Amino acid sequence: MKNSYKVGIIGATGMVGQRFATILSEHPWFNVTVLAASGRSAGKTYAEAVGARWKLSAPMPEKLKDIVILDAQNDIEKIAAAVDFVFCAVDMPKDEIRALEEKYARAEVPVVSNNSAHRFTPDVPMIIPEINPEHLEIIPAQRARLGTKRGFIAVKSNCSLQSYVPALYVLDKQFGVKDVLVCTYQAISGAGRTFETMPEIIDNIIPYIGGEEEKSEKEPLKIWGKIEDGKIVPACAPSFTAQCIRVPVSDGHLAAVFVRFEKKPTKQEILDIWANYSAKPQELKLPQAPERFIHYFEEDNMPQTKLVRDIDKGMAISCGRLREDTQYDWKFICVSHNTLRGAAGGAVELAELLAAEGYLD
Ligand code: NAP
Repeated sequence: MKNSYKVGIIGATGMVGQRFATILSEHPWFNVTVLAASGRSAGKTYAEAVGARWKLSAPMPEKLKDIVILDAQNDIEKIAAAVDFVFCAVDMPKDEIRALEEKYARAEVPVVSNNSAHRFTPDVPMIIPEINPEHLEIIPAQRARLGTKRGFIAVKSNCSLQSYVPALYVLDKQFGVKDVLVCTYQAISGAGRTFETMPEIIDNIIPYIGGEEEKSEKEPLKIWGKIEDGKIVPACAPSFTAQCIRVPVSDGHLAAVFVRFEKKPTKQEILDIWANYSAKPQELKLPQAPERFIHYFEEDNMPQTKLVRDIDKGMAISCGRLREDTQYDWKFICVSHNTLRGAAGGAVELAELLAAEGYLD
């Protein structure tokens, strides 16, 4: 890998784009050289284009304020010449996002995407770096399809599942996860909103998030999948059923999980696996990776979203309330930060893994 990579943020003015800008402004390996968004923002400086739309409590990074925004759709050649790879988080129709990301890849720019558009393209890896890093081995097959030497697309999974999939996946090898019922209680930043822009959520719960239940049930099976003949073939099991609910919380998604195993583990066996789980990002000491991936809290009233979401750069997963169930084997609660672990932070960690494994050279 190189010492330093030139990076573009496509969708830099949006909520996830702002998270990317904040994380990357301090990053030891990645140096932001391009910010891009729609034609509405192109030609303005980052500070002018975002203005009052800045949604984070941390201020806009000084060194990015005066960068002039490029047009994500019309300046692809110019962007390709100025970066080693891009992060992409845009709000556009899915078919347009698919086409846009492929244009960057075909222009020999690796794309690390937050968008859902390519999650089910069979040769596009959907990665949680601690869980399925081996799916990166599909990239040569994708490059062969695209006819590229460097360019490819890698995506992260939906934010809703970033707590419960890791907590379950790490138990699967030994005990076989069979059936999972999950209810998620999701923050409003997942809809790109704040309490100012979503006043209807104050003192309220909205029991519907469009498309989220389908993603929460289907995406885990691709993560559990295997590479066969140049494709990632989704697994048939475990079986997931999900209800996803929007709650009046700014950041952090909480999941209430019920699980049945092929071979029921003891409580101590589960706790030991969670406590000792460490994976490639920890081994490689990737800058964005949490030192400890899964934290377990013994207190009855933990993990509370507000108290645990920021642990270790917002990249750790917090579990608690593990107890036996009358219908399933075990039930528990888990929490992860939706715009850090679940969006920009997860994508930065994925890019670090790609760099460390030589895919960005
Ligand atoms: P957002 O705040 O609405 O930002 C959208 C971004 O897309 C802006 O930079 C916008 O630029 C740009 N854009 C819109 N239309 C465009 C066009 N025609 N051409 C080029 N750029 C265009 O959205 P977000 O919440 O950051 O989400 C971005 C993506 O990440 C979405 O696909 C979303 O599903 C995904 N995601 C979000 C979260 C989350 O927690 N929010 C989590 C995971 C994944 P302008 O400012 O110029 O309009």
